[in-house]
Amino acid sequence: MKINVLTIFPLMFKGPLTESLISRALEKKIIEISLIDVRSFCKDKHKKVDDRPFGGGNGMVMKPEPLYDAIRSIGVKRKNMFYKNPYTKPYVILMSPQGKTLNDNIIKRLVKFKHLVIVCGHYEGIDERIVNYVDDEISIGDYVLTGGEIPAMVLIDSITRMIPGVVKEAFSVQNDSFYNGMLDYPSYTRPALFRGYKVPKVLLSGNHKKISKWRQIESYKRTKERRPDLLKIKK
Ligand code: SAM
Repeated sequence: MKINVLTIFPLMFKGPLTESLISRALEKKIIEISLIDVRSFCKDKHKKVDDRPFGGGNGMVMKPEPLYDAIRSIGVKRKNMFYKNPYTKPYVILMSPQGKTLNDNIIKRLVKFKHLVIVCGHYEGIDERIVNYVDDEISIGDYVLTGGEIPAMVLIDSITRMIPGVVKEAFSVQNDSFYNGMLDYPSYTRPALFRGYKVPKVLLSGNHKKISKWRQIESYKRTKERRPDLLKIKK
């Protein structure tokens, strides 16, 4: 999968992209990420990416021209839904607290795309006219961050781990919380006794049938207790 990130702070991505699973996925070329500095598309001397809002009010707004030029530079010509095979064409996502709240189902859909373009806003947000070139708006939750970079990293991480080959064992992704509409079961590792706390006996029994049954029950119990809303959602 190819991912272009449009940002005015490309250096913020150092770390999340250079460590752990994401860096391995990049090395193996399972994903390819290009950070595009929106500021480099400013035509004025001071490379100004923001301006005061029309109508007055607080803060600054990201100007439309550099963002538009950055989107066009990637080869985005029109909205993705107009293509016969949308999954092979660039899909432009704006990170926004006003978008659809990110969840496992959205991630499963986005994994199917060959090319994602992620736009990170800043300040009071972007000039609303850029939404005409955006296919989807995604929020990472009902709170406001200073910019779209951290939300973009959350999106990239959550999508990448779903791509086959990134997490070594496909089962481990499929057993994780939400994948099948439930929370994951509790996990334990050595030592079997930790400061007086014991590991559930069944996990030491070597009886895989019993272990699997126990995990299913624990998973259901947790979901019912912590996220009963998930049990009501029909997939
Ligand atoms: N004035 C905007 C509002 O109230 O809807 C908030 C702007 S926020 C300070 C600046 C940028 O951070 C947004 O344009 C967006 O790209 C990003 N952002 C902030 N919170 C976010 C969230 N919960 N999910 C996704 N992106 C977010």
